[in-house]
Amino acid sequence: MSNTNHFINTMDAKRVLIIEDSVAIAKIQKHICKLCGFEADIAISLQEARQLYEKADIPYFVAIVDYALPDANNGEAIDFTIEKHIPSIVMTGMLSNEIRDDILKRPVVDYIPKENRQVYDYLKHLLTQLPENQHIKVLVVDDSLPARMHIVRLLERQYFQVLQAENGEDALIALSQHPDISVVITDQEMPKLSGIELTREIRQKYSIERMVIIGVSGADNNSLSARFIKNGANDYLRKPFCAEEFYCRIFQNITYIKNIRTIRRQANYDYLTDLPNRRYFFTKAEKFMKNTQLNTVCTAIMDIDHFKAVNDTFGHDAGDEALKHVANILASHFDKEFIARFGGEEFCVCFKQDQMEQAHSRLDTFRTDIANSQIRHQKDQICLTISIGLISSRNKNINLLISEADKCLYQAKEAGRNQVVALAIDDNNDDQGED
Ligand code: GH3
Ligand code: MG
Ligand code: MG
Ligand code: MG
Repeated sequence: MSNTNHFINTMDAKRVLIIEDSVAIAKIQKHICKLCGFEADIAISLQEARQLYEKADIPYFVAIVDYALPDANNGEAIDFTIEKHIPSIVMTGMLSNEIRDDILKRPVVDYIPKENRQVYDYLKHLLTQLPENQHIKVLVVDDSLPARMHIVRLLERQYFQVLQAENGEDALIALSQHPDISVVITDQEMPKLSGIELTREIRQKYSIERMVIIGVSGADNNSLSARFIKNGANDYLRKPFCAEEFYCRIFQNITYIKNIRTIRRQANYDYLTDLPNRRYFFTKAEKFMKNTQLNTVCTAIMDIDHFKAVNDTFGHDAGDEALKHVANILASHFDKEFIARFGGEEFCVCFKQDQMEQAHSRLDTFRTDIANSQIRHQKDQICLTISIGLISSRNKNINLLISEADKCLYQAKEAGRNQVVALAIDDNNDDQGED
């Protein structure tokens, strides 16, 4: 097992070299680079590309190269960028199979035929994905060193972080040592543990959207793809495969898990404050309450004082700023607890420790921090206070805890706001532990 990424030294380089003799196309490409956060230099010939390369003080992150240029008719510009170790995307208007094969003989990042406008969307997608790949850890499992290295090189060319294992058993060790691996590409025929057995093992621990598994095999067996997928693989590739197909599959599977994660995040987190929302809070807190060994549990609910007046005086945008401000301070004070934006200007904390006094004092520090802080919105300085109800109980029913904490919050409001009201429920006689 080893990390073999040779491109790590170019991690921060964010310049693109465009080699393209059509000024109109080069302009579009430069515009797309800009949209993706890259600066781009344009060379309209191979000679100009050489000059730009010599002058550049940081390595180019990627090159977008035309196949045919006035001084380089047969892909010599691609040979140049590859020789200089610049990951190269080829864009060409020459669509014949011979040219395609000639391009794909070279270790290019991708090949994009200039067939229609959609290809620029593809380029944008690719340029967005490449820097993201730097944060994606892929484990390649194959007992054959040449086969493994072939896949490793394909991945490194697209800036993935790559780890290797020789067999299924080593792969499981690598996974336990690197919990941030999110893609496994595994051969089928291996000593100790086969690819399908490995897939089954991995699936017991990781869901299909948490870990992409792609099976690979050279065996002449039609049922293998179905067996891989029935045992939990996301996809399957038959060896030998071409680089283009490999990249399409990787790209598609990564996009799939990215989309699922985005949807999940949007479903679980509040859009304005980025705090967990009420529904997600309940899911987490209920699970915690069910499994905790604590004898007593503490939960607090809080509400910004006279918040309507903030909106009325400074406007709704200022109100939104104020909510974000409170959420940030809340998150920094209680990063180890379950917190949520419970509703409009209401937040809550479910503590993972049982000391009422400690919870009380931490909440009071938080309350004071809010009261002493200022929110700047345009020319206005806004000050806020917050009222808090805290409950400690042996009953671990989260709905009951919240409703009791809410009563304390009401008392805090009645008693003049900007304070914590805490109550330990004497629950000797109640039905503790019941839902
Ligand atoms: P109290 O001290 O009794 O809690 O008074 P209050 O004014 O804070 O309470 P009230 O419930 O009357 O008003 C809450 C206000 O919070 C009304 C609502 O418009 C505002 N609010 C709720 N959600 C948002 C939001 O997402 N953005 C903004 N700007 N305001 C919000
Ligand atoms: Mg050309
Ligand atoms: Mg309020
Ligand atoms: Mg309210």
